[in-house]
Amino acid sequence: KSLKKYFPIKSGILGRKVGHVKAVDDVSFTVNKGEILGIVGESGCGKSTTGKSILRLIEPTEGEITFNGQDITKLNTEELRKLRRDMQIIFQDPYASLNPRHTVEKIIGEPLLVHGMTSKVERSSRVKELLEVVGLSSYHASRYPHQFSGGQRQRIGIARALANNPQLIICDEPVSALDVSVQSQILNLMEKLRDEYHLTYLFIAHDLSVVKHISDRVGVMYLGRMVELTTKDKLYEEPKHPYTQALLSAVPDPDPDIKKERIILKGDVPSPENPPTGCAFHTRCPHAMDICKQKRPEFQAVENYHFVACHLYQDGVQ
Ligand code: SF4
Ligand code: MG
Repeated sequence: KSLKKYFPIKSGILGRKVGHVKAVDDVSFTVNKGEILGIVGESGCGKSTTGKSILRLIEPTEGEITFNGQDITKLNTEELRKLRRDMQIIFQDPYASLNPRHTVEKIIGEPLLVHGMTSKVERSSRVKELLEVVGLSSYHASRYPHQFSGGQRQRIGIARALANNPQLIICDEPVSALDVSVQSQILNLMEKLRDEYHLTYLFIAHDLSVVKHISDRVGVMYLGRMVELTTKDKLYEEPKHPYTQALLSAVPDPDPDIKKERIILKGDVPSPENPPTGCAFHTRCPHAMDICKQKRPEFQAVENYHFVACHLYQDGVQ
């Protein structure tokens, strides 16, 4: 709720603070138990920072993060360590997130050890079980990360995240680094695991086509703010925010009879060091009005379960 993360900008050899980047600027949303909430936006929109702040891998500047009724921004290190069992993360780059000098057994066994499974025999048997859960074989336990393909490495990352039976998994672009053919295998696996283990995912992606199948609801971020959030069907069928409409117009339709007009946005994403006034999207928006430069639109419900931050809808839907 009202999550903010500002990073200081430093300059010169003395590292004097000269300003800040508002990486996440007043973002509020809920992830319901058992759902997959997709968060989409271009690089630099604050989606990864949001995900990492929720786990407190990054300390938020302001805001509340409530998990199972408890505000976790108030927890001390020891309380947080216990909670980490329940909240895990899968990273974008399976190459960088696995220690190349450790065997798979050590990699997946580490979170088990951290959370109190001291018996090596027990850990070893749990690791083998986890490998099978993610579609690898127990004999892979003695191998090293470089002996696996990209997709297999991401399976190892998933097994590590599952080790302590978490409730929530932050998936930070888990398939972006993979070949398209492998992406759907990993997405199918993740969906299956969600159903089997009653998991909840916050699924971060830069591409609306990746979250289309897997998400129950989707949020769209632009320059540190959430601009639209609704059910998957509403978002793909009736996108309301001009930015969402532009993103969707770029997703190819599988049905060749459907002709979509591609909305080309002018310019690039402005620098988050110096975001535009009012609605941060006004420099690129095809519908920008005078008020858009002056006043920041509220993120509010325009219909049941449909939130939008845009002046076109501030007095109800047009
Ligand atoms: Fe476009 Fe204005 Fe809506 Fe921003 S508030 S998206 S500039 S119409
Ligand atoms: Mg990122």
